[in-house]
Formats: sequence, C-alpha cells, structure tokens
Amino acid sequence: GGGGGTLEVRNVSARFGGVLALDEVSLSVQPGEIVGLIGANGAGKTTLVDVVTGYVPRYEGSVLLSGNAVDGLSATRRARAGLGRSFQSLELFDDLTVHENLLMASDRARPSSHVLDLLRPAPSPLPPAAAYAVRELELEQWLDTPAASLPAGVRRLVAIGRAVAAEPAVLLLDEPAAGLDEHETAELGRLLRRIAAVSRPAMLLIEHDMSLVMSVCDRVVVLDAGRCIAEGTAREVQNDPIVRTAYFGEL
Ligand code: ATP
Repeated sequence: GGGGGTLEVRNVSARFGGVLALDEVSLSVQPGEIVGLIGANGAGKTTLVDVVTGYVPRYEGSVLLSGNAVDGLSATRRARAGLGRSFQSLELFDDLTVHENLLMASDRARPSSHVLDLLRPAPSPLPPAAAYAVRELELEQWLDTPAASLPAGVRRLVAIGRAVAAEPAVLLLDEPAAGLDEHETAELGRLLRRIAAVSRPAMLLIEHDMSLVMSVCDRVVVLDAGRCIAEGTAREVQNDPIVRTAYFGEL
C-alpha cells in the first residue's frame, strides 16, 4: 500500500440542527504536503475531518481523493480507499499489545487475515511502515505491553503509529500532540516531516500547539465559525490581523 494522494474539499457545508458547523469550506492538500487546520473551539475543525472521512455523511459540497469524489462512500469504504485518520478519542484494542495493535492497523484491506495471525503463537513481524513508526516514535520497549497498561503519552503515540502503519494516501490528524510532553511532541513532529518526505500522503493536521504547527506545516488554514478566514504559511497566518482578532485573541 501507501503512496501519496491529493485531498480536495470543495464548498463543503454541514449543519447540526440549527448550527452551521461548516460554511462553504474549500481547501486542498497535495501529496507530501502538511497543512495545519487551526481555529478556536467550535470553529468546525473536527466536523471537517468527520465530513472528509465519512463520519458525518450528510453535507453539501464535495470531497475528492486524488480527483475522485468519495461523497457516496461509507466511512469504511473511504478508509479502504486511503483516507486515514487518528481519533481525538484514542481507539486502541486494550487487550492487545502495542505490536498487535500496529499489526491490526497495517492491513486495512484484509483485516480477517490478521485475526488469524494473532492466533499464532509467535506474532508476525511488523510491516515496514509500522516498523518505521515504531523506530521514529521510540516505541520499541512498549511492543509487548497491552494497550490498557500504557502511560497516556505513549498511548497517544501508538494511536498515531496505527494511523501511519495503515499507509493512507491522505492522513488526517486530530490534535495528535494533546497530552504529549515536549520530548514526545518533538518526536511526533519529526515523524510527521519524515512521513511527508517518504510516503508522501496529503496530511491535514488539527493542532492547538502552535510551535508544532509552525515547525511542521507547509501551509495553515484558519477556520472561524465554520468559515475559512485565512490561509498561508504559518508565519503569514500568525501575523494576519484578522486571524489575531478571531483566534489568537482568545488564547
Ligand atoms: P474543538 O477545538 O473544540 O474540537 P472544533 O473546531 O473541532 O472544536 P467542531 O467540534 O467541529 O469544532 O464543532 C463545530 C460546531 O458544530 C460547534 O458549534 C459544535 O457545537 C457543533 N457540533 C459539532 N458536532 C455536533 C453534533 N454531533 N451535534 C450537534 N452539534 C455539533
């Protein structure tokens, strides 16, 4: 698997009852590019990821993966087509070890074969993308630990490792640095830049940690009350007076 894709969001609007959570949002992310998505609480960032990945199936506008509209596809089918994400609520298999969690993530097309693999006495070796995530995130010492026993920061890293191990064409990361200490955040930043260079997915990064956004993002899109209010390099966006009022003013 693997290989980069292009993500394109065209004029997407989404409503929850009377709330217009997304209002005509358009953006695109190229293969190997990391685009930061920032904005105050309630700006619509998670909703945009949910729309792209099919978790919010009802919306106006269109989502395209490498030029093909995925609007009719379920979340499962979008994942198989190459739209990968890491969740804010970290879904790991608590009874399985880190190694087993990464194995399960590695083959999204044939999950049943891995259930069989897990019944064998010796665990299968990790595929290259998973092994790579283990090295970059310094997870070696945790491989045999059940997910339920992991410290919170390590749990976060394993969840990110799972998203990476699937080698998606597009990778959406929802606040991956939340709960990480400074050292773990630096490891994460390094991993994201290397993934961008090596397997070249289009990456969309929702993040409140501006130093991480500044250090890894090629471009930043700012959402405010469901609308894109600015776009540019991290530095341009940080110095934009409209953004400062709408977003940084609230910090
Ligand atoms: P945060 O940084 O807090 O995660 P966000 O930018 O991700 O915020 P969203 O969670 O996408 O923002 O929320 C956008 C708007 O949509 C908010 O007004 C929120 O209350 C509303 N909203 C989101 N999900 C739902 C839902 N399932 N039902 C009703 N309203 C929702």
